[in-house]
Amino acid sequence: MSTQILFASRMLRSKAKGAAFLRPYSSSTYTTGDRLHGYTVKQVKRVPELELTAITLEHEKTGARHLHINREDSNNVFAVGFHTPVSDSTGVPHILEHTTLCGSDHYPVRDPFFKMLNRSLATFMNAFTASDYTIYPFATTNPVDYANLRNVYMDAVFHPRLTKLDFKQEGWRLEHEVPTDTTTPIQFKGVVYNEMKGQYSDSNYLYYSRMQQAMFPGTTYEFSSGGDPSDITNLSHEELLNFHNQHYHPSNARFYTYGNFPLEDHLAAVGEQLKNFERITPPTVNKVAVPWTAPKKATSTCAPDPLSPPDKQNKISLSFLANDSSDTFETFSMRLLGYLLLDGHASPMYKALIDTNLGTEFSVNTGYDSSTRSTCLSIGLQGVKDSDVELVQGRIKEVLEQVKTEGFDPIRIEAAIHQLELGQKHKTADFGLTIMHGITSGWFNGVDPVDLLQLNKNLDALKQGLDKGNFFESRIEKYLLNNPHTLVFTMKPDASYATDLVAEEKERLAVKVNSLTESDKTEILEQGKALESAQDKTENLSCLPTLTLKDISPKAKRTVLDHSGICNTPVQWRTTATNGITYFRAISTLPVLSDELKMYLPLFCDSLLSLGTREQTMASIDDEIRLFTGGLRASTTTSTSHSDIDLMEEGLVLSGNCLDRNIDKMYTILTKLVRETNFDNTDKLKTLIMGNASGLVNSIADSGHVFARAYAGSTLTPTMRNSELLGGMSQMNFMSQMAAKEDLSDVVNKLKTIADAVLKQSSLRVAITCGEDAVSSNEKALSGFISSLPIQGKPLVCDPNTFTPEYKKTFFPLPFAVNFSAKVIRGVPYTHPDGAKLQVLSSLMTNHYLHREIREKNGAYGGGARYAGLNGLFSFYSYRDPRTLATLDSYHNAIDWVTKRVFSDQEITEAKLSIFQGIDSPQSVSEEGMLQFVNGISDEMRQWRREEFLKVTQDDIKAAAETYLLGSEKDGHYSVAVLGEATDKIAEDNGWSINQWGEAVKQ
Ligand SMILES: [Zn+2]
Repeated sequence: MSTQILFASRMLRSKAKGAAFLRPYSSSTYTTGDRLHGYTVKQVKRVPELELTAITLEHEKTGARHLHINREDSNNVFAVGFHTPVSDSTGVPHILEHTTLCGSDHYPVRDPFFKMLNRSLATFMNAFTASDYTIYPFATTNPVDYANLRNVYMDAVFHPRLTKLDFKQEGWRLEHEVPTDTTTPIQFKGVVYNEMKGQYSDSNYLYYSRMQQAMFPGTTYEFSSGGDPSDITNLSHEELLNFHNQHYHPSNARFYTYGNFPLEDHLAAVGEQLKNFERITPPTVNKVAVPWTAPKKATSTCAPDPLSPPDKQNKISLSFLANDSSDTFETFSMRLLGYLLLDGHASPMYKALIDTNLGTEFSVNTGYDSSTRSTCLSIGLQGVKDSDVELVQGRIKEVLEQVKTEGFDPIRIEAAIHQLELGQKHKTADFGLTIMHGITSGWFNGVDPVDLLQLNKNLDALKQGLDKGNFFESRIEKYLLNNPHTLVFTMKPDASYATDLVAEEKERLAVKVNSLTESDKTEILEQGKALESAQDKTENLSCLPTLTLKDISPKAKRTVLDHSGICNTPVQWRTTATNGITYFRAISTLPVLSDELKMYLPLFCDSLLSLGTREQTMASIDDEIRLFTGGLRASTTTSTSHSDIDLMEEGLVLSGNCLDRNIDKMYTILTKLVRETNFDNTDKLKTLIMGNASGLVNSIADSGHVFARAYAGSTLTPTMRNSELLGGMSQMNFMSQMAAKEDLSDVVNKLKTIADAVLKQSSLRVAITCGEDAVSSNEKALSGFISSLPIQGKPLVCDPNTFTPEYKKTFFPLPFAVNFSAKVIRGVPYTHPDGAKLQVLSSLMTNHYLHREIREKNGAYGGGARYAGLNGLFSFYSYRDPRTLATLDSYHNAIDWVTKRVFSDQEITEAKLSIFQGIDSPQSVSEEGMLQFVNGISDEMRQWRREEFLKVTQDDIKAAAETYLLGSEKDGHYSVAVLGEATDKIAEDNGWSINQWGEAVKQ
């Protein structure tokens, strides 16, 4: 479904979602017209459905706007954003976003933003460039931390240094391949330059952005705010400075604060910074599309996908210009219309386009998109045959005509409203950021952000509209059937796409290089040297604020759990305030399966939620799921034993949540899925397989470092090997091969064999999180569910797997302009005292060596070291890396470096702070107690490990580095995996194992 494209300053960490905690709200004391710290209160609005009060203010002198969300939630958020529409594709706002974080007047050090990551207990820190705004948010529960980060962020945006050298490092530059060696060729380098080369090699991104450019000609949206690599190299340092001067000004800013810290403190601190500015009139760029008088067509090309059939790689969509985003009710209605048309097995477009196998999946832009000033709704497909491109357009129009005449099934509308209702009650720990993302784009387009929060107001208006009738039908007519501003956008694979890009870059480079004078060349050499010495300089960071070890609580938060047995099945209970929602999770451990059968487990899980039963279609079951639950899922899990990394547990997970009033219905649906799924439904099975196999290359391009790490790790421990089979490169390869099968009878048999062997009472354990008052109804319904399962599974004849670690280097060729790499080493289990030392070590190596070498020098978007405490593996990784071989050298040199480097106490403290950011990050209610349930890790074990972290010393780090890293390096006990473009050094005769798609992955 369509999402907004954001460019983040750093890779997003995946982290357990947390929970806002809910106490009765104490009413605020502000009223419209109040004056505080140079601000005037414009509006105060209680929004009971989200348990918050929204207060909007304006800074009197500069006109800066401020939205404060007062809510009883300790995970406080601060964000400052600027309206930054563009009139070219040089990526100026994106490069500016990066460069502002490279040092400012009060914090004149390189990269204060990255340095602060280790001096804080922030639960979130990043910066984003969207298509027409740039925003810098962070979140933390600690008031001192909040003030520290706010000062650093404010200084970064209003008083950045923006030096020429930083612009060149982050944006683009000409530099010798080896900066100090003039005999090596001159190249384009730069963090954003490479980030965008990587972005543009993702055909989904390419499709979304080219479609948007074609849809809104004459507006800012016809350009790329992230930067098109071929235009980035036109941007000058002066243009960057000008853009900053004009846009990063309070008069063009929006401030957002959220949580339970007092508003007055925010205003006093921010107001103090703003008082030295005069009001300006910010520059404007046209954002409103001039409606067309006739539909248009546009086409584009992309690199072929080596994992999909060559004749089924077209993408086609119809995009319709919809309402202006200032009409919030219309936006709400159109979003709902998009949902009704497109979401789930029962939606008319799914039935007409996906079930019929016209395409493998909806195109990436499909859905309603309100991130632009004039909104649009798109419907499209990918994985379309050359001969079906026309047919798809016709089919979409037929469905629209049909829905206009017949209307939507009232049950589907009710289900959509139920999902909205449940979504409001399900609170996550990053609620403040969720709200921010929900309102920002509208706010920059002139919408009152408070309007966007009032769901109940919109729901009431919707109900009135529905009563009058013709509500969605009239909108289909107006926006989708009789709309001349309709774009048909197609994208076809082109075998020469990648080579054309390379040729274009080569030519562009030649033009620049040929025009260089001798003095330019000297400057390039000097600049290369200057950059290297700046990167290598040890800096005094005492100007930066920091938390200390005292800010880390010595005691871990405990989670009170109860345990009981229902029909001999162990049940873990977490009773707490859940806002009237029950969260269910069950793990069924697996019998020993052959590798061959194991590969089918992910498909088996998806089948449960895709095939339907003999009595009921999936469309009809899907309606029930949406009407009575917040979603049901089936997935696989593999976890390492906490006391032996060579032992693992494999299982299937069933999970779901529902409002307490629907507990019975949720278990009834679960029972039906587990007991009655019709694996003989080969039509649906085919659709499912085609959908799963679609876009594999894009999912790899998105998180290639994770795939590289998983593959390298898979040669070292049984857990990682299992995870690799179930979700790594082997599984990707397996899915693409399965998609090529005509006859699915063998697949059906495999799925039935699995069904007979798994999800039985004897292998089940359950975890329930619910309110006190929902325990007894859960007990009753749960015992019905458990007793409906057979006690034992059918025994399987299978040799137990034996596993011996292997050390190898593996390469996966993929059409990426930049590579991904990982090098992995065996560590220790969770309960081993060296685990904490290795984790602190990984943080120190990332912060003091690898970040500099891999990101700053080699120009990769991300890179570092990571120790996975639960799996017991130490890994190095790089993300969107233009210089893989240099990075592999950096991995090697890092080990030598760390055994010689002496770390200061402050540096060790920083490493610990960065680790505790993750450990102490607030959790969602639904995640509480899951470490115990899934991995068997008790509160006592967590407390022990916490103390181990706090006690790690310099000597411990040295010893761990020598024992594990140096030891493995000397013995060659490590594995490496690289994904992307090969170089001459990565070859079989150089000790590499090369995988070709279509062959079984070499294990
Ligand atoms: Zn970026």
